[in-house]
Amino acid sequence: QEEKNKKQKKFEAFFSFEFFPPKTITRIETLYEKIERLIELYPLYIDITWGAGGSTSEKTLEIATKTQKFLGIESMIHLTCSNMTKEKIDKTLSQAKQNGIQNILALRGDPPQGYKEFKAVDSSFQHAIDLVKYIRSSYGDYFGIAVGGYPEGHSEAKSYEEDLQHLKEKVDAGGDFIITQMFFDTNIFLKFVQDCRNIGITCPIIPGIMIVADYAGFKKMTDFTKMSVQKEIMNKLEKIKDDKVAITNFGVEFAIDMCKKLINAKVPGLHFYTLNRDNVTKILEGLGLIQNCRSRREYPWRKSAHPKRK
Ligand code: FAD
Repeated sequence: QEEKNKKQKKFEAFFSFEFFPPKTITRIETLYEKIERLIELYPLYIDITWGAGGSTSEKTLEIATKTQKFLGIESMIHLTCSNMTKEKIDKTLSQAKQNGIQNILALRGDPPQGYKEFKAVDSSFQHAIDLVKYIRSSYGDYFGIAVGGYPEGHSEAKSYEEDLQHLKEKVDAGGDFIITQMFFDTNIFLKFVQDCRNIGITCPIIPGIMIVADYAGFKKMTDFTKMSVQKEIMNKLEKIKDDKVAITNFGVEFAIDMCKKLINAKVPGLHFYTLNRDNVTKILEGLGLIQNCRSRREYPWRKSAHPKRK
């Protein structure tokens, strides 16, 4: 019994895996095989991103539905609103409910490539909060709702403080928990959590962990989101940018180190942006988190401050 208690105490945070819908049928088939292998690691749930341009969005619900139904893993869909018609939002929500999907990461979405700003397709969905409110008013507590948070402030925000206030409004409107944008300095995340607590955000805040595996992609992403990357990391990556194996190893080691710090700081969970790769296995191995049964941790949406579905 003592041994069992020790094991349970050792790791209390859950982990979840994010995937994106590939463009071709063959790649989708490969993704199903990958997900089937990765859920053997017992993530608490998986989530599927929403192709903002609309190109792969049809696939989001299909993949989440199939993985939940046939692989038995709780699945969440991402849904963006500002670049969608109300009809498409309605169709997606009602189809999600029909298919038994109960969790949505409610987002605004980004402007199309090449545009700095964009006009909402439907003026009633300007920001993610509009989608959160709409889901709550149309579906009550049927859906668990996650919202995006930005440890360094969102790139378009007038200020970090104002962005935090908008985050609080999203949570107050019905968001159950926050998943953050990636970051590369644990202290930035920990300060963000403290700042959220100071303004009265009490829900779970889950760090989003990016596993670096490709220099060009990393550079594009960090430039676009205006994220700060420590000089040492950039220098190291510059040196190994043409060596795929070295970059992959670096990404894994870096993520392990960051996750250790986050676990020490008692985060409720770790959200891995897998980019459809399976190197998350190495990270869990490095953290000693390979489990042989499902995690006992509660789903984050059950710990929300809002009245919850059973
Ligand atoms: P919002 O909460 O609407 O915030 C956007 C900006 O508007 C911020 O600067 C905010 O401060 C400001 N703002 C918010 N509310 C108000 C208000 N009431 N008045 C004035 N200003 C306001 N994108 C995809 O296309 N597909 C995905 O699957 C996807 N997954 C993501 C997963 C995570 C965990 C995160 C963090 C982001 C993801 N994104 C995805 C990217 C996201 O769509 C962009 O970051 C987008 O620019 C902002 O989305 P948001 O939901 O945070 O927007």
